[in-house]
Amino acid sequence: MPWATGPEADAAFTAWTQGKTGFPYVDAGMRQLAATGWMHNRVRMVVASFLVKDLHIPWQRGAEFFMTQLRDGDLASNSHGWQWTAGCGTDASPFFRVFNPITQGLKFDPQGEYVRRYVPELAHLPGKTIHTPWDATLSGLGGYDHGYPKPIVDHKVEREVALANYSFMKDQKKDQ
Ligand SMILES: Cc1cc2nc3c(=O)[nH]c(=O)nc-3n(C[C@H](O)[C@H](O)[C@H](O)COP(=O)(O)OP(=O)(O)OC[C@H]3O[C@@H](n4cnc5c(N)ncnc54)[C@H](O)[C@@H]3O)c2cc1C
Repeated sequence: MPWATGPEADAAFTAWTQGKTGFPYVDAGMRQLAATGWMHNRVRMVVASFLVKDLHIPWQRGAEFFMTQLRDGDLASNSHGWQWTAGCGTDASPFFRVFNPITQGLKFDPQGEYVRRYVPELAHLPGKTIHTPWDATLSGLGGYDHGYPKPIVDHKVEREVALANYSFMKDQKKDQ
């Protein structure tokens, strides 16, 4: 798999670990992990998918970081959780199933309480607008007035890159 490497990938990885990707639901999850040593399973899947399929960083780096943070860190469950999300495990979710970090937030945190708890820079945004600070700004609600970062990637674009990488990898395998 043509994973992303180099200083840009390292900067993206750091932003992910610190909950500063500009994707509120992802950032809330990573900040919950930092604040409590735990994260709900739904959000673990979303942040893992984001690292592997939006930032194109190998699942092993994410799994290693989780093991330094999780109070329930377990080598077997963690590795299989990451491989499931990355589409390479024993009974993995298919690679082409890419979690949308925005619609997942809107679906599982409809009023934005979870994001409001862990991302104070967005707490001034009402209801579900907290999941899309870029739209909130357009409607004059000042999504970025309190220093929340802009999205470090465009999910639509990176989803296509991930799927292209996957077919590239499959073709390589075929040619072997
Ligand atoms: C990327 C990723 C990484 C994960 N890393 C870990 C990890 O390091 N340690 C870990 O125990 N779980 C891990 N999980 C599985 C799951 O997220 C946690 O077990 C669950 O969120 C723990 O919260 P709970 O104790 O409230 O679970 P509850 O929902 O109350 O479930 C009760 C118990 O069942 C077991 N369990 C529940 N879901 C799973 C699952 N999907 N896989 C394996 N066991 C499960 C756990 O022992 C859990 O304590 C991971 C999942 C993903 C997607």
